[in-house]
Amino acid sequence: MKKLTDPLYTLSGVGPKRAEVFGELGIDTVKDLLTYYPFRYEDIQEKEIEDIQDQEKVTLKGTVVSEAVLNRFGYKKSRLNFRIMQGHAVINVSFFNQPYLKDKVVLSEDIAVYGKWDAKRKSLNGMKILGAKNDGEEFAPIYHVNKRVRQSSLVQLIRTGFEEYGCLVEENLPQELLEKYRLMDRPTAMFAMHFPKNPEESHQAKRRVVFEEFLFFQLKIQGLKRQEKAEKNGIAIQYDVQRLKGFTKKLPFELTQAQKKVTNEICRDLMSPQHMQRLLQGDVGSGKTVVAAIALYAVMTAGFQGALMVPTEILAQQHMESLQLLFDPLEVQTALLTGSTKAKERREILEQLASGEIDVVIGTHALIQEDVVFKRLGLVITDEQHRFGVNQRRILREKGQHPDVLFMTATPIPRTLAITAFGEMDVSIIDEMPAGRIPIETRWIRPPQLDTVLEWMQKELARGHQAYVICPLIEESEALDVKNATEIFEHMQDAFSPAYQVGLLHGKMKNQEKDEIMQRFKENELQLLVSTTVIEVGVNVPNATIMLIMDADRFGLAQLHQLRGRVGRGSEASYCILVANPKNEMGIERMKIMTETNNGFILSEKDLELRGSGEVFGVRQSGLPEFVVGDIITDFNVLEVAREEASTIWKKKQWWVLPDYQGLAEEIQPEDGKHQYFD
Ligand code: ADP
Ligand code: MG
Repeated sequence: MKKLTDPLYTLSGVGPKRAEVFGELGIDTVKDLLTYYPFRYEDIQEKEIEDIQDQEKVTLKGTVVSEAVLNRFGYKKSRLNFRIMQGHAVINVSFFNQPYLKDKVVLSEDIAVYGKWDAKRKSLNGMKILGAKNDGEEFAPIYHVNKRVRQSSLVQLIRTGFEEYGCLVEENLPQELLEKYRLMDRPTAMFAMHFPKNPEESHQAKRRVVFEEFLFFQLKIQGLKRQEKAEKNGIAIQYDVQRLKGFTKKLPFELTQAQKKVTNEICRDLMSPQHMQRLLQGDVGSGKTVVAAIALYAVMTAGFQGALMVPTEILAQQHMESLQLLFDPLEVQTALLTGSTKAKERREILEQLASGEIDVVIGTHALIQEDVVFKRLGLVITDEQHRFGVNQRRILREKGQHPDVLFMTATPIPRTLAITAFGEMDVSIIDEMPAGRIPIETRWIRPPQLDTVLEWMQKELARGHQAYVICPLIEESEALDVKNATEIFEHMQDAFSPAYQVGLLHGKMKNQEKDEIMQRFKENELQLLVSTTVIEVGVNVPNATIMLIMDADRFGLAQLHQLRGRVGRGSEASYCILVANPKNEMGIERMKIMTETNNGFILSEKDLELRGSGEVFGVRQSGLPEFVVGDIITDFNVLEVAREEASTIWKKKQWWVLPDYQGLAEEIQPEDGKHQYFD
């Protein structure tokens, strides 16, 4: 009998090979395919070139006026160029690494290209060719695809999927909710997500799917929370108050009021038998690390172990160093465990974790997985960008560990949003900077002034300071990213060598290579570090006082703020120089705001106001859960409604056996069947 969960190859025309290609997109079953929703719809309409803002994503329609020229360079890299005429304007279009599009570009024929507008070069960086000849396709779905799957073949397959399995799609929400919120039924919504008849139908379909996605999420986390409560096996960590006081007294500085407040909140959670789920939020440089150190120390004095998880090896290394400075190494046994820890050392560390010899372990995500066994894990702290979601919590539970959990983030997420999105997590905020900080001075310059700035930088370097130079982000192609960074690197070498050493760091480098360069910068063997944004998160080099950001208008405000937070970490005056030539009011406004405030919360609000989407102010980096269709910023009210409904549902006695709730119960049951919410 056919089921929606049948593997993809059960569809006509799909063999194992093709199924594998789609598997790369996470589409393994027919259901995965039918629910592989477009991330946006392209409303194909002509736009006057003067009205398009730099970097805006638009569709341009026009006549092809030059043969398409394909240049190949390097392994699998290529660039396709052609020109189209729209009205009286001739526009350059280029596509990277999509050589097969050449056949779609026919001289003198009309074409519609979706892409990103480069105002400076009056050219469009193409992302997709839309069916221009087919005027019916005025409202086209756009999917995330990769190099091996084309939009058109995906759409084709989705059609086949509906033809062969469409009749099996059943409602999964209770009637009550459908009526209460006037939601579209599931079969209609699922189809309309891909093939909407008009914008209104598309809107209704999306409204339903977003609701559904948020409701499932809320049901799961509330279910988990409920179960954790029922088990009552959170750990009461009876730390040694006197020793902890001794530790904070010995710190090289006095804690700020805000640090004291959050430390107390955390310590209270540790002591209580309730399971701690706390979000610690504080702007870059507000001093979260020392708060983490205090919590880890407290846990150690109670005879428990602590783990600190960070996103990269560089950061792990760095946290290891700062913690060792704060801890008395004789008293606290620390270890570093990352992907590059050598096998022998790793084995030793694992043994010592199992025996309880190690008190605090610092490392990347691998820490809490697989063969890592703790003797008595009491606290897990995650720092930046880490998704420590339902699944990770499950992994620990299954190992029989129920540690308290503290998430640290520098992303200024509004409090209500954090609480709702994390599922009733407690929130602590450090809203104060350590005293004596000299605020970073931010200046915005236009490119022609760069030479003057470089001269001024000579003087700063002569005083023994160091500088970062950040290269713009070129999303279209990594090869271009590297090329661009290399050019800037050479320019800096011309300007500063041989008096100063210049280093280069980019995403194409091997981890080890990156770590080496970073290390040399830390040790002041390099005075200038030219880098793509790989240094964005967390590195601490207090001697660096200059942050020079090229093409700063290409970055989001939150990202600029994060980058700026890399300087001003010592006692010297620091500077952030934004080099940008924004083409429109919004760009100008953004540069101005950066020079006016150092406050991350104000910036995030501004960013939201100016650009109106969640992604821009770094939600991705915040560790907030990511949703496929729903946007926790723009659909925030739906998220709140879903939270309330989920809570109402959990209050119903054994709701999962009610006939109208079968679909829901099935949806939140994990595939491996390992976790039972319903007991
Ligand atoms: P972040 O919140 O960005 O992780 P860090 O914990 O790295 O910030 O702290 C930034 C710097 O401020 C570090 O050099 C740290 O030693 C210092 N610092 C932290 N707390 C205080 C304080 N209360 N007084 C003075 N300096 C502090
Ligand atoms: Mg930090």
